Amino acid sequence: MAAQTYLFICLKDNFGVLLHDPASGATASIDAPEAAPIEAALTKTGWRLTDILVTHHHADHTAGIGELKAHHKCRVVAPRNEARRIAHVDESVGEGDTVRLGTLEGRVIDTPGHTAGHICYFFPADKLAFVGDTLFSIGCGRVIEGNPEMMWNSLLKLRNLPDDARFYCGHEYTDANIRFAKTIEPNNKALEARAEEVKRQLASGKATIPASIGAEKAENPFLRADDVEVAKSLGLSGKPAWQVFAEIRERKNRF
Ligand SMILES: [Zn+2]
Repeated sequence: MAAQTYLFICLKDNFGVLLHDPASGATASIDAPEAAPIEAALTKTGWRLTDILVTHHHADHTAGIGELKAHHKCRVVAPRNEARRIAHVDESVGEGDTVRLGTLEGRVIDTPGHTAGHICYFFPADKLAFVGDTLFSIGCGRVIEGNPEMMWNSLLKLRNLPDDARFYCGHEYTDANIRFAKTIEPNNKALEARAEEVKRQLASGKATIPASIGAEKAENPFLRADDVEVAKSLGLSGKPAWQVFAEIRERKNRF
């Protein structure tokens, strides 16, 4: 049976998302920004929390873990390379590990850069990826604990997922990301069409995710650092892609 998801807002602009396996009843919260909206989402869906799948140690992804675990006795899965910085971890995982949620099977992808031990979860049967603060729709996370080359290589792993894979990220930043992306590729027609779609989604109170990997490949400047035209427009023709990525990231930091 196909996995089900339920998306909602936590804190100011964090996404909360529940992943549910209808066959077994198992339900995971991807990260736990704060307990109350996650509890409200569980009540609304009628799903029982069995797991929390953590992407990285930042407080706006982990602050709700203690309260949820106390209430639901759920299993907490977290990145191996930063598990000691996260409270209440039951199982630590890294690249290539399989995470089971009832009958669903997720694969762990190491994506260091935003934090040194950041991981993503990809469920191939449903083509669903949970990417935390590594990839955003039309953007990417800040490079805080890693370096640009590391972050670029992490983004390439996500870009290599199937075009029709859909991903859930940690924040609703799409509108601001599009305004920035247009400064890098003002003539990108796919980006222009996406901007119109996002405008409509936000005007009707909808979230702008999940987005597809295929669309991001055409529209997200951070995934296009190895495009010759992008490099050329930044005056970086012939430079390694990670250096072009670093320049785009630097411009976004100042935007
Ligand atoms: Zn973060």
